[in-house]
Amino acid sequence: MYNIAIDGPAGAGKSTIAKIVAKELGFIYVDTGAMYRTLALACFRDGIDTSDEAAVVAKCESVEVTLGYEDGTQKVYLNGEDVSTEIRREEIGNLTSAIAVFPGVRKILVALQKDLAAKNDVVMDGRDIGTAVLPNADLKIYLTASVETRAKRRYDELVEKGQTCDLKEIEKDIEDRDYRDMNREVSPLSQADDAVLVDSSDMTIDEVVAKIISLK
Ligand code: C5P
Repeated sequence: MYNIAIDGPAGAGKSTIAKIVAKELGFIYVDTGAMYRTLALACFRDGIDTSDEAAVVAKCESVEVTLGYEDGTQKVYLNGEDVSTEIRREEIGNLTSAIAVFPGVRKILVALQKDLAAKNDVVMDGRDIGTAVLPNADLKIYLTASVETRAKRRYDELVEKGQTCDLKEIEKDIEDRDYRDMNREVSPLSQADDAVLVDSSDMTIDEVVAKIISLK
C-alpha cells in the first residue's frame, strides 16, 4: 500500500489539497479531523463537559464512527447517521481540539486510521499522521501557511456558505487552536523529521497539488 501523510495547522488547506491529490492518484482520502469532530459532536449533543476526561472518553467509546464514500466524497457517520455537514460548524471545531488532547480519545481513532492505511492506498490528513499514526508513510508533507492567510481562507469559506463571521475572531480562534494542537502532551502537531515542508501562503491550489505529486 502507498501511504501519503499530510499534517499541518488549521486552515492550511490540507483537506482541499489531500482530496485532489487522492483523486488524481486514485487513492482513498481519509480526513482524520472529521473523525475527531464526530466524537466532539457526540459529546456536544449529550451536553458532556469537555473538560471531564473520564466522561468524554466514556462517551467516545460508546459511539461508532465510520467513513463512507459517495461519488468519491468522504462522508462521516455517527452511529450510522451522516453528520458530514454538522461537524463543520465553527463551535464544533473549537470543541474538537479540546477533546483531542485526551489519550483515550486518540487511541480509538488512531486504531481505525492505521487499519484504513494498512488496507488501502491513502492520502490521510491531520495533525499527527506523519509522527504518530503512519510513522512509516511513503511520503510525508507538512503543509502550512501564515495565520493571516489561513484566517482569510476560512473567512471566505464561511461567507460563501452564507454564515456571518468576524475575521479577527477567526484569527484568534486559529491561534488558540494552533496553540492547543501544538502544545498538548499526546501527539502534538509537529513536523516529522522526514516530512517535506510546503508553505502554501503564496501558492495556488494547483501548485501545491503538483508539488506533492512530483514528490511521490
Ligand atoms: O482538521 P480539522 O480542523 O478538521 O481538525 C479539527 C481538530 O481535530 C484539530 O484542531 C485537532 O485538535 C484535532 N485533530 C487531531 N488530530 C488529527 C486531526 C485532527 O488532534 N489527526
